[in-house]
Amino acid sequence: MAGSLRDPIERRLERAAAACGRDGGRLTEIRRQVLALVLRAREPIGAYTLLDRLKAEKANATPATIYRALDFLQEHGLIHKVERLNAFIGCTDAGEHHHHAVQFLICRTCGAVAEMEDAGIADAVERAAERTGFRPARATVEVEGTCAACAAAG
Ligand SMILES: [Zn+2]
Ligand SMILES: [Zn+2]
Repeated sequence: MAGSLRDPIERRLERAAAACGRDGGRLTEIRRQVLALVLRAREPIGAYTLLDRLKAEKANATPATIYRALDFLQEHGLIHKVERLNAFIGCTDAGEHHHHAVQFLICRTCGAVAEMEDAGIADAVERAAERTGFRPARATVEVEGTCAACAAAG
């Protein structure tokens, strides 16, 4: 046990299980497996790629299995969906701050996606929407461009 906890992903899974427990959810085996696959992917991962990888461990997994697990993980703030890529990434704070404001920086060169949390941006979007009479429920801000590493390389 002590050995496996040295793995940063195992540590994130433990934190995720604790965060779920605090708000009355349960990180079941299947949810934990899907979360582990999202966290181990080097880049945002789509539902069907997840299904293929999950089938290696659970041959009877179906699209519904994946979508139900993804819904739960999103609801508990453990993963985010990058709409532009139709793919999922692990939340960097692993459910510590549920439904926090989030923006994504997407590199067009290498495909890296960084998560950013700026409450000021979320507030500004909300206030601007409300001024038009609109009632915002959720705002996803995705910024495309060049990451620092690619900018430095080229
Ligand atoms: Zn997050
Ligand atoms: Zn890049």
